[in-house]
Amino acid sequence: MRYLSSAAMRGDMTWTETFNCDICGKQKGIVDHWWLAWSEPFIPHAEAPERHMLKLYPWENMLAHDANARHLCGQACLQKLVDRWMNGEMGMSHAAAAVGGRDNVREIKK
Ligand SMILES: [Zn+2]
Repeated sequence: MRYLSSAAMRGDMTWTETFNCDICGKQKGIVDHWWLAWSEPFIPHAEAPERHMLKLYPWENMLAHDANARHLCGQACLQKLVDRWMNGEMGMSHAAAAVGGRDNVREIKK
């Protein structure tokens, strides 16, 4: 989650940004060791079904603005995210087309 508030009332262009952990809601401080994560559609080769790939990266302020980025306050919440993500992906392979639209799931012809 990402919140923006502006200090425009005083006429300066300062933006105060706060980030909150997408798992536990904790607010980011200045020296916290946070992580960013993305889940992206990925097709390893032409015959493979589209699945999601999870990307992790140490906190980087510029990247944190990405609308698709998940913000994680530390290892514990990162592991929770990975757990949820893995459960979601396993669910995807069993119950095809349940999430994300039917067009994302391809039948493999043998
Ligand atoms: Zn957290």
